[in-house]
Amino acid sequence: MKPAQTETDLTKFGPAWAHGCEKCKFGLINPPPVHGVYIGMYVVRAIQMDKGFLVFCDCKAGETYEKYLKARLVDIRARRDLVDGAYWKQVIEQAVEASLAPAQRETA
Ligand SMILES: [Zn+2]
Repeated sequence: MKPAQTETDLTKFGPAWAHGCEKCKFGLINPPPVHGVYIGMYVVRAIQMDKGFLVFCDCKAGETYEKYLKARLVDIRARRDLVDGAYWKQVIEQAVEASLAPAQRETA
């Protein structure tokens, strides 16, 4: 199985500021993990943002990432009308599930 993409993969060839500052990683402060997800990384992060799971840093990486994900969320919502409701529900559940660390899942 293909491992989930990470911000490291996505910004490998990007500008240095996109990697974040000493307070964050790629603009996110202590972000929830993304694992076992085979939908797009940005879809997972956008839904995580929508659910309040993400804390953005006040550096350029954080501001840029937040702006980017807000725009993606608009796209995702627009596309939701084009896909089957059951499929969409599955996508959201997968993204939320991916936000929960294994330890949190065991106690949930
Ligand atoms: Zn930062």
